Amino acid sequence: MWFQAELYKLLYGSPSLPHALLIKGARGIGKQIFAQSVAQALLCEDRSAQASACGQCAACTWFLNGTHPDFKVISPITDEMVEASAESEGPKLKSSAWIVIDQIRQISDFIHVSGHRRGPRVVLIHPAETLNPNAANALLKNLEEPPPGVHFLLVTHRPHSLVSTILSRCQQLSLPLPNHQSAIQWLTDQGVSQSELALALSSGAPLLALSRHQEGAFNGRNELFAKISQADFDPVSTADSLSEQPLERFLAWMQQWTYDINSQILINKVRYNIDFKSKIESISNMVNRNSMLRLHRLLIREQRTVQHPLNTKLYIETVLMAYSAAISTKQVTDVY
Ligand SMILES: [Zn+2]
Repeated sequence: MWFQAELYKLLYGSPSLPHALLIKGARGIGKQIFAQSVAQALLCEDRSAQASACGQCAACTWFLNGTHPDFKVISPITDEMVEASAESEGPKLKSSAWIVIDQIRQISDFIHVSGHRRGPRVVLIHPAETLNPNAANALLKNLEEPPPGVHFLLVTHRPHSLVSTILSRCQQLSLPLPNHQSAIQWLTDQGVSQSELALALSSGAPLLALSRHQEGAFNGRNELFAKISQADFDPVSTADSLSEQPLERFLAWMQQWTYDINSQILINKVRYNIDFKSKIESISNMVNRNSMLRLHRLLIREQRTVQHPLNTKLYIETVLMAYSAAISTKQVTDVY
């Protein structure tokens, strides 16, 4: 992975590793994998100086098999876990988008009995912004005075969504975007064909790029942009051709597309759609600047708030008409 320097600094730098660490940074850069590496290094029983986990000792073997008794991961309960628990004895769990208080109560038991290996115990909580208010309160008590040798690792890409009392009890570590070349190489190794483009479309976050690639989030994008690169494209038939695309995806594409046009005008730079650079350059020469800025701001707002309009096709048409008006040199009354 690309965070070796950060890992060494955390393990061997000064000040020493705190008992509660909040690992934050952009979505899809590998924060959780980093947290796992920290946990494995802490639990490894044959760690030589200035190195991370050995990968060979009994502790590393358990860790890699997901069975280390002194390591606990807390995440929202998924449907698969509910099915598994339904087959077993004991309390039945409900699927949830949140980390709930019962899960935090389990931590109290875990950290207050002595560790199986008489070494450190590690609790990894991710995504930490999914702690519901009761769970956050319960966690607070554990963070205040944890027993010696207990480490909490909280992972989030939305630290502002955490309550301030949790934030104030954690030391915060901000992970940067991975090195560009390492990220490209990694994506290529994962079988992503246009790794450079996938990375640009995902703001430099390689895990996000990989998951988008795998879920087909880039399919259909070329066709749309090829059409709307033409000044005389037809918003109605273009909207027709988008009927299979999720609305959120269309809005995300349009938001990046209008960002690029504005960025090309203002600083001569295309950030996302690097494969359409020359088209974006020509559009930027004929565009109505104010309309394009307004449209981009509108798309950001819409992306945050859009639920599902009654008539999705009409909604897409309206966005495309506004865009069509903005790239027209003729003065057209704005649709919005
Ligand atoms: Zn080891």
